[in-house]
Amino acid sequence: MGSGRALRVVHLYPELLNLYGDSGNILVLRRRMEWRGISCEVEEVHTGDHPSFVDADIVFIGGGSDREQRIVCDYLLEVRRELAAFVEDGGVLGAVCGGYQLLGHSYLMGDEEVRGLSLVDLYTDRGTPRLIGNIAVESRISPQPIVGFENHGGRTHLGPGVEPMGKVLHGYGNDGTTGEEGCLYKNVVGTYVHGPLLPKNPGVADYLIARALERRFGVAELEPLDDAAELAANKVMYDRLMDEEARG
Ligand code: GLN
Repeated sequence: MGSGRALRVVHLYPELLNLYGDSGNILVLRRRMEWRGISCEVEEVHTGDHPSFVDADIVFIGGGSDREQRIVCDYLLEVRRELAAFVEDGGVLGAVCGGYQLLGHSYLMGDEEVRGLSLVDLYTDRGTPRLIGNIAVESRISPQPIVGFENHGGRTHLGPGVEPMGKVLHGYGNDGTTGEEGCLYKNVVGTYVHGPLLPKNPGVADYLIARALERRFGVAELEPLDDAAELAANKVMYDRLMDEEARG
């Protein structure tokens, strides 16, 4: 199975956007491909580079402080057209927290409205307090609930046609009031879930890999892996959070 297949992952600005180990997501993507005989080439894009998305299969962007997010946004606005073409062509884009906020039309930094990449119809304003804590989300892209950690001042509002990644079971999600978390648009997955996201949520990793395989090779089937350790970690967290919910 899998032999001869290769996918190219473009990791945007790991030195700036790597909050709560977000770069660990790349390691998970690589391993889950290699365990199935799919080679994985990772290209890290650093400040000053001019990224190309022409041969990319999966683009990943992590979270960071407002300051770092601002620097990255300025870089990405220069290649906005190319990144938008990638997204519209069904390219897979995973974005966490600060990276997720960048996908929208704008986000509020202090009192300043900063222009975003407008890749997805959403925008982010701010609120107090910061939304901090463990989170569990039910989502159609993962057979297990998605678990992790969130910490954001931003409140993200989805446009009418944009599907949330899922429903908050514990925690805050996009804005702490709608019960919605993240966004799904074409093959874009945006989420506030750090952790990092993918080690404890193998279903999300496989969703991204499957969408990329489907686009590149027309086949989305993935060989199952032994996920006993990952699923045990997921379950410990999920059970703990549901227990907290039950106790109010
Ligand atoms: N700076 C953003 C906020 O606080 C994103 C933070 C993050 O990536 N955790 O809303």
